[in-house]
Amino acid sequence: LAQLFRPLDMLGWVYRTIRQGLIDMEAMFGIVDTPQEVRDAPDAPDLQVSAGHIRFEDVRFGYEPEREILKGIDLEVKPGTMVAVVGPSGAGKSTLSRLLFRFYEPTGGRILIDGQDISEVSQASLRQALGIVPQDSVLFNDTIGYNIGYGRDGASQDEIEGAARGAAIHDFIAALPQGYASQVGERGLKLSGGEKQRVAIARTLLKNPPILIFDEATSALDSRTEAAIQETLRSVAARKTSVVIAHRLSTVVDADQIVVLHEGQVAERGTHAQLLRRNGLYAEMWNRQQSERDEEAEAAE
Ligand code: ATP
Repeated sequence: LAQLFRPLDMLGWVYRTIRQGLIDMEAMFGIVDTPQEVRDAPDAPDLQVSAGHIRFEDVRFGYEPEREILKGIDLEVKPGTMVAVVGPSGAGKSTLSRLLFRFYEPTGGRILIDGQDISEVSQASLRQALGIVPQDSVLFNDTIGYNIGYGRDGASQDEIEGAARGAAIHDFIAALPQGYASQVGERGLKLSGGEKQRVAIARTLLKNPPILIFDEATSALDSRTEAAIQETLRSVAARKTSVVIAHRLSTVVDADQIVVLHEGQVAERGTHAQLLRRNGLYAEMWNRQQSERDEEAEAAE
């Protein structure tokens, strides 16, 4: 009888593995519904990344035809610079990163990387060029070492540790009784939001892509963790083209350009200092966040 059940067990395992993979993909991008399939054109060439220059040209998109979320976005990220996207909740910030990853296709306009329309190149080559640190990183039910090493096939233990150091998570892992062999997930270690995000940063460091998309966690982190992540982000993003989807404005002060999304359009753009002088939406958001911080600091005293 046991012999009879073995193939069934195997099937169950295959099913669970595939299902977990799908869950991970969905959770990684915050996608609730399964997106319509994005297909490569036959013989789609590979993306050739030289400088890492990103351009959104009049990009339009809605998840449903009757509700347009992005209403003609023009955006340029020059090679090696950091652009931060800010704006109220629901403005479409994460949607921009999903389009750049080609998880969905724009309904109008186009997105270019080094002059190539990303809808015309192979998805595999596009995703190879992009490193994404999602807002709520989902980890595999496996060891913490595996979860970092997943960033690049065949990474050595030394490389994994180097990436963990770069993401300021090595000391934490080294102090665990089983170190890098510690299991994470349902039956193992539960990591905090900040720790998970640092694992995702380490994964991306290992992958070392020319373009980085960082979707900042919405959930509040304690200020020490937040400062550590921001410091890590700065060193990871140095010399790379990066797009940061920011929920806290303190993250974006140093960005080369800040883009303020509002009701599906770019309402303002400029550096932190320029936008403060402009005294518009950004300045208003900044002042509000500052006074919230002051109130929190007072309450903590
Ligand atoms: P937040 O700061 O809260 O993360 P955001 O600016 O990143 O917000 P998006 O996640 O890009 O906003 O969402 C923009 C709009 O698109 C929202 O109104 C949201 O409800 C809608 N939306 C997001 N994902 C989907 C989806 N899969 N299907 C339908 N609508 C969606």
